Amino acid sequence: MIDVSRIIASQRAFFNRGETRPATFRIEQLRKLKQAIVQNEQEIYSALQQDLGKSDFESYITEIGILLEEIKTVIRKLPQWAKAKRVPTPWVHFPASSRIIPEPLGVALIIGPWNYPFQLIMGPLIGAIAAGDCAVIKPSEFSEQTSRLVARIVKETFPEAYITVVEGESQISQALLKERFDLIFFTGSVNVGKIVMAAAARHLTPVILELGGKSPAIVDRDTNIRLSARRIASGKFINAGQTCIAPDYLLVHHQIRDRMVQALQQQIELFFGKSPAASPDYPKIINTRHFDRLVELIDSGRVIHGGKVDRDALFIEPTLIDAVSWDDAIMAEEIFGPVLPILTFETIEQVIPAINARPKPLALYLFSNSRKTQNRITSEISYGGGCINDTLIHLATPHLPFGGVGDSGMGNYHGKASFDGFSHHKSVLTKSFWFDNPFRYPPFKGKLKLVKKIMG
Ligand code: NAD
Repeated sequence: MIDVSRIIASQRAFFNRGETRPATFRIEQLRKLKQAIVQNEQEIYSALQQDLGKSDFESYITEIGILLEEIKTVIRKLPQWAKAKRVPTPWVHFPASSRIIPEPLGVALIIGPWNYPFQLIMGPLIGAIAAGDCAVIKPSEFSEQTSRLVARIVKETFPEAYITVVEGESQISQALLKERFDLIFFTGSVNVGKIVMAAAARHLTPVILELGGKSPAIVDRDTNIRLSARRIASGKFINAGQTCIAPDYLLVHHQIRDRMVQALQQQIELFFGKSPAASPDYPKIINTRHFDRLVELIDSGRVIHGGKVDRDALFIEPTLIDAVSWDDAIMAEEIFGPVLPILTFETIEQVIPAINARPKPLALYLFSNSRKTQNRITSEISYGGGCINDTLIHLATPHLPFGGVGDSGMGNYHGKASFDGFSHHKSVLTKSFWFDNPFRYPPFKGKLKLVKKIMG
C-alpha cells in the first residue's frame, strides 16, 4: 500500500518552507488549476460519461462551469481576503490596536464522493489553495474514470509535496485518517461522516463535513404549478437523482396534488421523451449496489409514473410514488436516486413540526407566492440552505456559503466561506509601551467598584 506517512511528511516540509503563504503564489496556482481544467475539458466529459452517463451539457453546468466561476471569483477577491484586517479595540486597552490575520492551517485532507466526482474534489481544493494549504486528495473509488483523471491532472499541475491525489478504496481513507492533518474536508454520507469525525478527534483535527439527508420540496397551493413542477423535476432528475441537495420527497398541498402530479409527468416527458432509457440527457445509476438499493425502494403498487428499470444498463426511469406516508420505508433514508415519493398536507402548520421532528435537512425547497409562508418556513425550520420557488441553484453561487447543519453536516464552503474554512483567523492585539495603566494590576483592593463602572 502507498506510504501515506511519507506523503504527509513531505507536504508538511513543503508547507513549513512558507512558499504557499504569499497571495501571489496562491493566485498563480489557481490560474494553473483553471488552465488544467480548461485543457482537459474533453477528458472530463469523457470520464463523467463513463462513470455516470452524464451529457456534456450537464457535466459543464454542474462540474466544470461552476468551478471556473468559483476560481474567477476567488482570484479576484483573494488579495482582499488574505490581508490582515484592522478591527476596533476597546478603549480600556488604550494604547493598542487589533488585527485579524488569516493564516493557512497547514496540510488538508479532502475526501470526495462519486456523484459529482470532479466538482466535489476540485471545489474544496480551490479553498485549500486560496487559503495557502497543502492538500492530500482522496476521490471516490466508485467514479473510477474521474478519480484517475483527477489524479493525472493534479500530478501534471502541482508538485506532490504541495498537492497530491491518493486513489483507492475506503481502506485508503482509513489509512489516511490515522494520520495527523490540520483540516479534514469530507463530502459523503452521514455514516462515514461519523467515522471521519471520530478519527479526526484523535488528533483534534477540525472537520468540515458535507453530508446528506432527506431534503423536502414543499409545494403550497398558491404557487405556479407548471414552473414548480419543471424546477422540481429538473432538481430531482439531474444526475438521475444522485445529488446531495436533490429534492428527496415532495410535500404537496392536497388541493393541488392532482394538477402537480400531472405537471410533473408532463415535465419528465418534455425533458427525457417517452422513453428516458433512450435519452442522451438522462444519466445512469453509479453501480449495481446502488441500483439494487433503489429498486428495493420502488413499491410497484404505488408507482404513478415511470418505474422501469434495467440492471445491465444501470437505468432507473424517473419515477413518482404516490400516497406515501411518513412511516414508509422510502421515508427512512436519503433516496439518492430518481425516485420521488409524494406526500400531501392540508396546512403549513402540519408541515413544520413534521420536518422539525426529523434530522435537519441539507436543503429545503418551498414553492409558494405567500411572503408569510416563505417567512414561516425559513424562520421555523432549520436546514443547511435552499431556495424559494426553485431547486439546487443556491449551490451555484460563490456568494452563498454552502453546507449542512445537524445531521446534514457542519462548516461551509464556496467563495469566501471556502477561504475562511481552510484558514485560521489569528487575532493579535498590539500594545504600546508609551503608557501603562496601573489599574489592572494587583493589589486590587478598592478597585472593584470602579472596574464595575468601566466594564459593566
Ligand atoms: P460515502 O460516504 O460512501 O463515501 C465518500 C468517501 O468516503 C469516498 O471517497 C469513500 O471512499 C470514503 N469512505 C467510504 N467508507 C469509508 C470508511 N469506512 N472510512 C473512511 N472513508 C470511507 O459517500 P458516497 O456514496 O460517495 O456519496 C453519497 C453521499 O454523499 C450521500 O449521502 C450524499 O448526500 C452525500 N453528498 C453530500 C454532498 C454535500 O455537498 N453535502 C455532496 C455530494 C454527496
